[in-house]
Parts: sequence; structure tokens; C-alpha cells
Amino acid sequence: MSAVHLQRKDIVLVCVHCGAELPYERPLAACPHCGESVLKARYDLDTLRRSGWIDKIRLRERGLWRYHELLPLFDTENIVSMGEGGTPLIHARNLGNMLGLKYLYIKDERQGPTASFKDRQASVAISVMREQGIREAVVASTGNVAISYSAFAARANIKIWAFLTSMVPGEKMREVAIYGGEVIKVTGTYDQTKVVANSFAKSKDLYVDRGIKSIAAVESMKTMAFEIAEQLNWRAPDWFIQAVSGGMGPIGVAKGFEELKIMGLIDKIPALGVIQSSGCAPMVHAFKQGRRVATPVEEPQTVIATLSTGDPGRGYELLFDLLTQNGGTMEDATDEEAFNTTKLLARTEGLSVEPATAVAFAGLIKLARRGIIKPNEMVVINCSGHTFPVEKQILGDQYAHQVDVSAQTGRVSLPTEGLLSALQRMESQVRKVVVIEDNPDAGRLIERILRAQGNLEVHVANGGAEGVLLVERIKPDVVITDLMMPDIDGFRVINAIKSDPRTADIPIIVLTAKELTVQEREWLSGQIESLLQKGSFMDEELLKSIIDAIH
Ligand SMILES: *Cc1c(COP(=O)(O)O)cnc(C)c1O
Ligand SMILES: [Zn+2]
Repeated sequence: MSAVHLQRKDIVLVCVHCGAELPYERPLAACPHCGESVLKARYDLDTLRRSGWIDKIRLRERGLWRYHELLPLFDTENIVSMGEGGTPLIHARNLGNMLGLKYLYIKDERQGPTASFKDRQASVAISVMREQGIREAVVASTGNVAISYSAFAARANIKIWAFLTSMVPGEKMREVAIYGGEVIKVTGTYDQTKVVANSFAKSKDLYVDRGIKSIAAVESMKTMAFEIAEQLNWRAPDWFIQAVSGGMGPIGVAKGFEELKIMGLIDKIPALGVIQSSGCAPMVHAFKQGRRVATPVEEPQTVIATLSTGDPGRGYELLFDLLTQNGGTMEDATDEEAFNTTKLLARTEGLSVEPATAVAFAGLIKLARRGIIKPNEMVVINCSGHTFPVEKQILGDQYAHQVDVSAQTGRVSLPTEGLLSALQRMESQVRKVVVIEDNPDAGRLIERILRAQGNLEVHVANGGAEGVLLVERIKPDVVITDLMMPDIDGFRVINAIKSDPRTADIPIIVLTAKELTVQEREWLSGQIESLLQKGSFMDEELLKSIIDAIH
């Protein structure tokens, strides 16, 4: 905090309501002219660009502080860092193949110090607190913010009062506690938790983190955009997808792309794919009705605490405007869809994520299937995913204070059991499947999805001729075949199987990328069990067809 290092940086806060410009010196709660609480930081981008910024950052260390000129901290001595940012951008070939998306990239935010993208927010916010001499702060959180702030605050000797809704899993609460965060468990919704946290802060005159109204928090999220553009060799993707609760991530990311565009480093701002959990999707509901104001969800019906902001307030309005300007859409996914997608993502890409992140992927799958995301578009999805537990016995049961603000207990319905788990418990009898597929990647992918079920014996034939022979020899319980194959196409394969009395009764599932003519459809409808469009199937759908075919 030595004033010696204080270099003036030209940051101006612009009021989104009256346009007043205020010099930024410290966090401001509201515009002094009109009382507006949303203020936007503006930097001298022109000078920065002309200073050869892009060449300078190339030489800097990995991590988000390589972009420090565009972050609201004056003295780099105040940085509180532990390896945040600089996460890999992974080309998702298997999942992309399955969805028919060639350029699907996963921004793997799980690789941050506490395994969520909140590490960006914590690093910047705690650094700013240190610079401002703040020793104690209050946060309301659905889990990950509290974990990350407590970890970074430990390094800066700042005390964190973390107000958590009781929906937050015990593992996460214990993790806050182990970093020395003071855990206050509020029996109630997240929105109620925020009210309790704010009045506590007020009564003790403590600094409170203000979510999307906090300059440090929003600015930190920009660094995801900077990294993505840099990793793509200074280019913007067509889409940025994220599961949202309050919406800070995409709001900050869009601002980051906007600044790069102003500097002439990229030529567009990506469309935003904003995904919510169906049991708490106030933004999606309002967006689908074309409304700029969302109606709060009083009692979220989701077990995914991370995404349980029932009242998105101003965050929705900001997102609505961004989507209107730059394109994009909002979609929801159920808890069950999310849980199934967790398994799909783990099996296809080797990534284990927390349920909130699975909601993002479940939404992505819907957007790809509906053709809203086009096959050649470049898509980046924010993949966070905190699953790190702290063993119960380390802390015992006395690590949290309890506050009950709800009349009812705020019951949430448990997700209904997914097909996958039902399938796993099905009779243990091994069922034989022959997959006829000339594309080896697609063949392996289908094989792996089926094998993961445990009770299916999978044989893959490379092409039609081999397929017909294999079916004759093995007499499987079900055949899955492609249509477009260079040697013998799928129609002739089906014909061969159906005209041989020894194999005629075997159900056939067609999996194809081909646009079918009316005649082809008619011909198939008499012969096969089901038809699945490739690039638009999820393993769930394929498995359901197999079960239906077998029974
Ligand atoms: C915080 C969080 C979200 C929601 O992000 P917002 O941009 O604040 O709405 C989604 N997923 C994960 C894993 C998170 O930690
Ligand atoms: Zn104003």
C-alpha cells in the first residue's frame, strides 16, 4: 500500500443512466448526480493501443494480471495472486463431432486455484480491497464466490464474512471455513441471503461486495475475453456460452470483447448463449417474451445452488441490451438434463464438472440441435466446476453459524432419476449390439457411449459389407447403422438384414447425417425401429432407442 508506487491510471466511471463521468479513485456505491448504481469503467484505450500494448503482453507471464492496464488497480504491488486466469482453451473434438460443431472450444476454468472462474473475480476484488485498505468484507454467495474470496483473502489478511444459502452443499461450506472465512448459513433462498448479508454489513459498517454493481468484479471477468481472443490469435468466437445466475460472467466478458474491438484487435463481439436452470430461469422466461424486465422466481426449484438467483435485477436488463446489440439467445435446462450431460461431457471429453456447468453444456446441446448455433460457427463455452471436498472430520459440524429466515423450509424437489441410472440397474443380462459405421471417429464415440453402460456387448463394423457379415455371425439384439457408406450403403444393409430370415427380426436403429427424401423416409419407416439425426443426438436419445428396440 506504499503510495510511492501509485501511478495514475486514467479510469473514468461512466453512469449508465445520466452519462456523468466521474474519475475513479475508489469503489463508488452510486452516481452522485442521479443515484444510479450501475457504473461502467472506461479506460484510455487509444493511448494503450498506440503504446504497443499487444506486443508488451506477449512477453508477460501467463495469468490475468498480464492485462493489468485494463483492470481497476493502480499499483501492481497490491496484486493478490495465486495462479488465477491463463486457463487452457481446449478444442472439444468428440463433443463437437457429436453435435456437428467443428469449432467447439472449452475454456477450462476448473483449472483456477479454487476451480471456478470466480478466482478471477476474487483476485481482482481482493487486490482492490487491499489497495483501498479494506480489512473486512461481507459477501453473499451461492458457494463459489465465498470459496474463492476466502482463499484469496487469506493471502491478503482480510476477513471474509460469507453468507451462504443453506442449499449450498456442505463440502463447499467447509471449504470456505477452512480458509478462515466466517460462514453464515442462511436457511432461505439466495435472494433472502443477500438481504441478510446487506443488513449485517450495514449494521457493522463493513464493506460489502456488490456483485454486478462492483467495478472490480465485472472488470475481472473481462480477462476471460482477453484470453480467449489471444488464444484464438486475436479473433473473437461467434458464440460465448455460459450458465448464469446473476449474469456477471457474460456481462464482463462482453465488455472485454468490446474493449478489444475498440482497440481494433478483433472485428466483432460474440453472440451470448445465456443458460439458466429450468427451476430458476427468470431471465429465460422474460427473454422469450421479449421483456426487458424479469419477474423474480420466489422459490427456485432446482438443486443446483450455484444457479439459484431468483431475482436477477439489473443484471438481466444489461444482458438483454447486450443480446439486442450483439446477438445471442437465452435457454434453460432441467436438473436432470444437466446431470445426464455431466456424464456425457466426462465420457466424451474427460472433463468432470459441477452441475451448474453441466447446465451450460445442456443448453449448448439444445442450441446446436435446433440449428441456432450453426455447424461452422466457433463456439467457446465457460467450463467451471468446483467439486473439491473438505473431509467432514477435519472441521466437525460446528464450522457454521445458522440463520433461519424462512417460514417454510424452502423445500426443493429432487431431480427425477435419469435414464442412465435406470439403465445401469436394468437386468444384468448382456445385450449384443452391432454398430455399422464407416467413420472411425464416430464409430469409436458410439462404442464408448454404449460400453459405458456396462451391460452392452458392442461390435463395430467398418462399413456396410463388413456389417452385414457381422450381423449374420453374431445375431445381435440390435443393429445401429449409418446410411452413407462408400461400399454398401445403409439402405442395402437394411435390405440384406431384413431379407435374411435368420436376421429379419433384429431391430435396426439408423443414425444419419443425411437429409432424407420423403421416399427414403417412407421406405425406412417400414423397416427400422427409429431414426436419429447425427449431429443432433445425445447419448440419452440413442440409449432410449436401444432400450425401446430391445423390449
Ligand atoms: C458463479 C457461477 C455461475 C454463474 O455466473 P454468473 O455469471 O455470476 O451468473 C455459473 N457457473 C459456475 C460454476 C459459477 O461458479
Ligand atoms: Zn448518473
